[in-house]
Amino acid sequence: MQAISREMIDSTIDSMIRPDRGCETSSDLMLAQLNHAIASDLAPQVEAIDQKGVYPRAFMQRVGEIGGFGQAVSSEYGGMGTGLRAAIQAIEAVSEECLCTGFMSWCQIACTWYMQNSDNDYLKTQILPLVATGQVLGGTGLSNPMKHFAGIEKIALSAERVTDGYVLNGMLPWVSNIDKGHYFGIAAQMSESDDDYLMAIVSDELEGLTLRCNAHFIALEGSNTFSCVFRDVFVPDELILAAPCDSYVDRIRPGFVLTQVGMGLGLVESCIDLIARSNQRYGHVNQFLPDQAEELTAELQTARQITYALADELTGQEKIERSLFKEVIKARILGSELSLKAAQSAMLHIGARAYLHGSKVERKLREAYFVAIVTPAIKQLKKMLHDLDQMD
Ligand SMILES: Cc1cc2nc3c(=O)[nH]c(=O)nc-3n(C[C@H](O)[C@H](O)[C@H](O)COP(=O)(O)OP(=O)(O)OC[C@H]3O[C@@H](n4cnc5c(N)ncnc54)[C@H](O)[C@@H]3O)c2cc1C
Repeated sequence: MQAISREMIDSTIDSMIRPDRGCETSSDLMLAQLNHAIASDLAPQVEAIDQKGVYPRAFMQRVGEIGGFGQAVSSEYGGMGTGLRAAIQAIEAVSEECLCTGFMSWCQIACTWYMQNSDNDYLKTQILPLVATGQVLGGTGLSNPMKHFAGIEKIALSAERVTDGYVLNGMLPWVSNIDKGHYFGIAAQMSESDDDYLMAIVSDELEGLTLRCNAHFIALEGSNTFSCVFRDVFVPDELILAAPCDSYVDRIRPGFVLTQVGMGLGLVESCIDLIARSNQRYGHVNQFLPDQAEELTAELQTARQITYALADELTGQEKIERSLFKEVIKARILGSELSLKAAQSAMLHIGARAYLHGSKVERKLREAYFVAIVTPAIKQLKKMLHDLDQMD
């Protein structure tokens, strides 16, 4: 991110608040405040997040207060109701500074997205406002079911119907942005039927649900990623997002996938910035490299336009056409491939200084791989496109 002085930010915020000075949507105001918080609160701790696994709880809560998590949530449930575009822009802004925190912002937004799209009034009125405003933090354990529904792996959780709820068993290997009292979305297969699944919001406060920290990653160490063990966990009906959930999953999936592109857009922007800085001194030799800053900037601009246009199209739509979902998948692939390309180009431009332990480019390279492998990974996205093409 470019260096911005406090005065510049304050005057931008001021001009947005004062209607006589123009510019003024609530998402513009949120983004200005968010950039302010990123510069003052997030930037100083990025190294600790990456190297020491520090979880930036206070910053996450601040993003919630500013409205960074509530853009796609209706105002009646504590959100701003501006739509998916602004939600993506919030993820993008945070990811530009720190992809770990950008991913956690996505996790939190995904958790709100599940409740916003559910018909469950209890979740919408009692839990969603807390998550949308960051008073309670939350995540999503949907990698396994997303892969299961794409025909890649077995479902990890099973659910048995009992009076007033379901009993869940199984284990999710990795769920991020969770901790004591955080909420997260899950899906489980109902034991009476191979074809029916449910989705629910759960928390470690449910008896029998334990969080275990058993893995260390090459990046995203501050993401509070735990494996979640379910042993006869009773989930009451009031926490069920949908059961059965096939049409509900169709409704949430495009927004789930598209909002992830925000991570790639932010990461690519920061790589271009690093390349441009390096060119000030080494442009005479850097000019012989492929993937110059200008080309990457043009590609980023295209990816942004496509993503924002799709976000506007998805916002408020109940039923998503297959052709539109295919465009969403392509945008997600584009974001991943561009992330890998930009991070590699930054490494080649900056050279040995980037190869030092603790260099910013080294972190960008590790972060870029996460964009490409987090579910849906590039390999899954390409399989999904292939499978959808077969249906046409
Ligand atoms: C830092 C980080 C954070 C994540 N956060 C979340 C989250 O918040 N929510 C969520 O649902 N998922 C999360 N995941 C999981 C992620 O989205 C993928 O599902 C997971 O990385 C496996 O996908 P894959 O396409 O690589 O699976 P495949 O290549 O198909 O792998 C097959 C299976 O083997 C397992 N596996 C492979 N290697 C190992 C290993 N070394 N140890 C344990 N299991 C292994 C995988 O879990 C997977 O189920 C996270 C992963 C990482 C690395």
